[in-house]
Formats: sequence, structure tokens, C-alpha cells
Amino acid sequence: MPTRTALVTGASRGIGNACVRALAAAGYRVALAARSTENLQATAEELRAQGAEAFVVVIDLSQPQSIGEGIFKTAKDFGRIDILVNNAGIAKDGLAVRMKQPDWEMVLNTNLSGAFYAIQQALPGMMRERWGRIINISSVVGEMGNPGQANYVASKAGLIGLTKSLAREVGSRNITVNAVAPGYIETDMTKNLTAELKTRMLEETPLKRIGTPQDVASAVKFLASDEASFITGHVLDVNGGIYM
Ligand code: NDP
Repeated sequence: MPTRTALVTGASRGIGNACVRALAAAGYRVALAARSTENLQATAEELRAQGAEAFVVVIDLSQPQSIGEGIFKTAKDFGRIDILVNNAGIAKDGLAVRMKQPDWEMVLNTNLSGAFYAIQQALPGMMRERWGRIINISSVVGEMGNPGQANYVASKAGLIGLTKSLAREVGSRNITVNAVAPGYIETDMTKNLTAELKTRMLEETPLKRIGTPQDVASAVKFLASDEASFITGHVLDVNGGIYM
């Protein structure tokens, strides 16, 4: 079997960075995408030093044109994309009544539309090969809602709907589409949460610990594998039990 290529968006830090490391360690060729290159290059060099094949591509997911160019370049320089991990995401929190249009649009454009356009670019190659894996990183709040995050939650719930619709659309081509819904994971995105909120979330988490990016990467690696070939349209919770 030829080596499969996985493109991970938001690979420069946090969960996406852990995903490319886990996938590279499992023997996949990895393409690392984000807006800023410094961390991508550093990770790619590290992975190459360990014997992996790693390729850096700059993509701004809020810009459809950038997505088109980035995915075209990846497929051209690095071979087709077999596994797409839509991980990049941002939050711009605020109460709905006062939320500014740019904050609504930026979050929806990046988290939901960005994932959709990336899928559109990657799908034809997967359909030709009759094999593919699409893994969308949603969130526990996309399942349960969260005050102050209407834009973010709408984007994450939207990803779940997108996952299920697409799973029905492309299943006959042997392409699986799944979502991973992390709970509270220690990354840059969550580092500024208040101590009070962190304590409350820990109290409500049956496993009594904060998740790590590696916890999420393990789920992604599984869904990318042949072992997960009969799983599609699924939302895999990686949340310590905070929502079940
Ligand atoms: P981080 O903020 O640590 O990393 C976000 C990543 O996304 C970075 O690599 C960033 O790179 C990239 N990114 C942001 N905007 C864009 C853009 N417009 N185009 C391309 N890349 C972009 O986040 P986490 O690792 O915490 O989160 C990863 C995913 O997991 C997100 O979708 C998040 O919503 C989700 N999640 C996280 C949880 C948590 O507790 N941490 C919980 C549930 C879900 P750069 O800035 O260089 O572009």
C-alpha cells in the first residue's frame, strides 16, 4: 500500500500540531497548514529529522482563494491528499446581543466555511481514488451550547451537520467523514480562561483532568486508520466525560 498523505490545518500549535506528530509517527506523509510558517517549518524539520516526510503549506482558511491555492499546491508538490483533518479554528467570544458582524463572520468563515472549502478541494482526488478520510474538529460546545460563544458554537455545530451530510454523500466512494468533539484541552486557545471557569470545568469532568492535545490526536489517528473503516458520520467525544 502506498504511503498515505494527511493534510492537517492549524498544524502550527496545539491540537493540530499534536495531530501531525501522531500521524507522522504512524507512518503517514504529513502536510502542515496554517497562516504563519515559523512553527510549521520548525515542526516539519523536526519530523523530517525523525525520518518522516513533512511538507509546509501556508493557507488562510478565512480566504477561499488561499484554500484553493494551498490545497492545489499540496496535491501538486506532495501527491494527493488521502486524509484531511480540518482542525484550524478561532474563537471571538461575546454576548450575542452585542456581537459585532466581523466577529460573527470571521469565526464562521474560518471554522465552518474554511473547512467546507478545504473539503471541496480535497474531495475530487479522494473520489477518484475511492478512498478518503475527512476528520472535522468540532467541540463539546457544538453539542451542548455555551453562553457567550454563539458564533463559535454555531460553527462547531455546523461542522457536525456538515460531517453527517457529507458522510451520506460520499460513503459509496469509500470516504469516511467523522467529527471529533474535544472538551477542555490545554492549548493557547484555552490558556486565558479564568481560574474559576477552569476549576468548574474540572469539577464537572468525571475523569478529573484537563485534556491534552495528544488525547485528541489519538482519536484523529484512529479515525484516519483502516481500523476505523466502518465508522462514518460519527461524532467522537474526547472530553473526559463532561458531556455524554
Ligand atoms: P490553537 O489556538 O492553539 O491553534 C489554532 C490553530 O489554527 C493554529 O495552528 C493557527 O495557526 C490555526 N489557524 C487559526 N486561524 C487560521 C486561519 N484563518 N487559517 C489557517 N489556520 C488558522 O487552538 P487549539 O489547538 O486549542 O484548537 C484546535 C481546534 O480544536 C480548533 O478548531 C478548536 O476550536 C478546537 N477545540 C479546541 C478545544 C480546546 O479546549 N483547546 C476544545 C474543543 C475544540 P495560525 O495562527 O498560524 O494560522
